[in-house]
Order: sequence, then structure tokens, then C-alpha cells
Amino acid sequence: MNWPEHMLIGALAGVLVAYFLGADLLTSALIIGMVSVSALAPDIDHDSSKIRQAANLAVPLAAFSFAITSACENNLQCVFAHKESILINGLAVVGLYMLIMTFLKPRHRGIIHTLSAAAVFGLLVYILSDSTFAIAGFAGYFSHLLADRQIKLI
Ligand SMILES: [Zn+2]
Repeated sequence: MNWPEHMLIGALAGVLVAYFLGADLLTSALIIGMVSVSALAPDIDHDSSKIRQAANLAVPLAAFSFAITSACENNLQCVFAHKESILINGLAVVGLYMLIMTFLKPRHRGIIHTLSAAAVFGLLVYILSDSTFAIAGFAGYFSHLLADRQIKLI
């Protein structure tokens, strides 16, 4: 199944989640967005997936943004003064991501396509945001497994 189908199924699951949580209109829109995007997450283990293309762009951007803001906040002169350490920190994170994706990436529809991975994903979302988004994240991830007919615990 390709990403538009997964995203559509995720959006439908998002409507259900928003309905059962009794969310207001804005929260419902955020929930539907979160479930739709989370429905793409399991295919990070596939080299040509949409979510992988997004991660290949987002990881370097986030790595360098973080390297700059942790060294300098928004002072441009400071960025030039610290350009070597910013470059090294940014490249270290990008390098780590590339190493993981090249050598440690689980096989497609392996451990990443399991209920355990869905639970870990929900937990990570919970740590980074709150329980509503964690439920939405888990629901999106689960909708992907359901659509792939990959309901394994581990
Ligand atoms: Zn899949």
C-alpha cells in the first residue's frame, strides 16, 4: 500500500479519534493531521517511502538548526564565530542518521511494523507532547499496521 492510501486511512482514523475524544474543531484538525502523518511513520524502514524522503530532508535541517540555536540563539555574528563547531555538531548528527539508515535499518515490515513499535512511537509522542497527541500518534501508526495486515506484537 502506498503513502496516499495510508494517509487517507489515517485521516479517517483521525476523524474517529477526534470524535471519541470529544475534541473541539481546532483540536480535531490537529488530531486528524497527527494521525494522518503518523500513519506514514512505519514505512521509515523503506528506502523510497514518502516519510523516508521527508526524514532525509528534516533530519539535516533539524540537526543544523539545533546546532546553531544551541551555540548562538539568533545572533548571526556568533554563528560565524562558531561556524566550525556548528558544522561539526550538525554533521555528527546527520552522519549518525546516515549510519543508522545504512547499517542498522531494520528490514522492511520487520520490527518497525509491529504493535511494540507502535507503543514506543506513542510513548515518544507522549514525552514530546501530551496524551491526546500520543493517542493520535498510536492510532495513526496502528492504522498503518492494520492496512498492511501486519498485526504482530514483536
Ligand atoms: Zn507499511
